[in-house]
Amino acid sequence: MNDKKMHIESRLAQIGSVEEPVTGAINYPIYQATAFRHPKLGQSTGFDYARTKNPTRSVLEAAIADLESGDAGFACSSGMAALQTVFTLFAQGDHFIVSLDLYGGTYRLLEQILSKFGISSSYVDTNDLAALEEVRQPNTKAILIETPTNPLMMVTDIGAVSAWAKQHQLLTIVDNTLLSPYFQRPLELGADIVVHSATKYLGGHNDVLAGLIVTKGEVLSQQVGFLHNSIGAVLSPTDSYQLMRGMKTLALRMERHESNALTVAKHLKEHPQVAEVFHPGLEDHPGYDIQKKQASGNTGIFSFKLTDARYIEPVLRHIKLVAFAESLGGVESLMTYPTVQTHADIPLEIREAVGVDDTLLRFSVGIEHVDDIIADLDQALEAARREIQEG
Ligand SMILES: *Cc1c(COP(=O)(O)O)cnc(C)c1O
Repeated sequence: MNDKKMHIESRLAQIGSVEEPVTGAINYPIYQATAFRHPKLGQSTGFDYARTKNPTRSVLEAAIADLESGDAGFACSSGMAALQTVFTLFAQGDHFIVSLDLYGGTYRLLEQILSKFGISSSYVDTNDLAALEEVRQPNTKAILIETPTNPLMMVTDIGAVSAWAKQHQLLTIVDNTLLSPYFQRPLELGADIVVHSATKYLGGHNDVLAGLIVTKGEVLSQQVGFLHNSIGAVLSPTDSYQLMRGMKTLALRMERHESNALTVAKHLKEHPQVAEVFHPGLEDHPGYDIQKKQASGNTGIFSFKLTDARYIEPVLRHIKLVAFAESLGGVESLMTYPTVQTHADIPLEIREAVGVDDTLLRFSVGIEHVDDIIADLDQALEAARREIQEG
């Protein structure tokens, strides 16, 4: 792999570019093979069967381990497959503490599937150490953090929570999807496992579904490696290639996502039809200081509430450049309505307790020119205002 001392921009751009010794190909090839010939009995090239190990996937796995400052990386067929593989470290009777404002699919996996296998979860504001202590049980084994959370952008102090977890022999798992290793590296702050929906910023182009796991320490790396191979929700060689191609430009994309999102958030904050803006890069956000301490930048995602729920339908109908679509982290701007889309599987009372209501929109700001994004939002808000006013 590349020199550890190089900057992350260089390591990203060079993913896979020095690993191919036969032809010197600058982009690591797609080894579309599931079986590998053994030189003789008792010998292996290091590759036997592709569920266990495929050369293209191995280059990606080494790259994400390096980028996240971990010891081993594992590429999975989706973010959910990565989370499920990690959850399989645990057994019947175990208990998790989980961030309250959580990706809806993760909540569904925990509540509708893991619960059937006797694994229970408590949902709390993971930045509140007293609340963590309150829900901790003798059988609590891990804490799962999203920071910032999606959609409400609540920020958790990864260092403080990891230290608390270590005191109680709990594993700290961080879903780092929203910031990517370019802006935040939880393992450096004390976490044990990082999980990504690489479908989002790492892939970056809304064209590959993938998940990644990075572990710290030999024991955990071996355990997750065993599960990754045994469960088999692994990433294909072609998708591994596609993901690496996206990751090469991560640094440039994140810089533009960050600056565009902050500019749009500041604009909306002053807009008369906007009631509230949730962006941890705004100084009045409660997570501003922690975010600044533990991450070198901000995600391109933020959410905002309109002053009237009746604006939602016409705004989503009138946006043109910005697509009304369910995902985040790609180069194209996407608008999501969490209460009916990404968070529909979270019960109403939990949604309301955290503030995911029918006036909330989540915006994944793309890398288009920021003036065009703002113009599109302004015309959609104005069209919605006119429609409501005219009844
Ligand atoms: C999208 C997402 C997931 C799920 O990943 P998939 O690749 O869609 O399976 C998990 N966590 C977060 C924070 C996400 O945004």
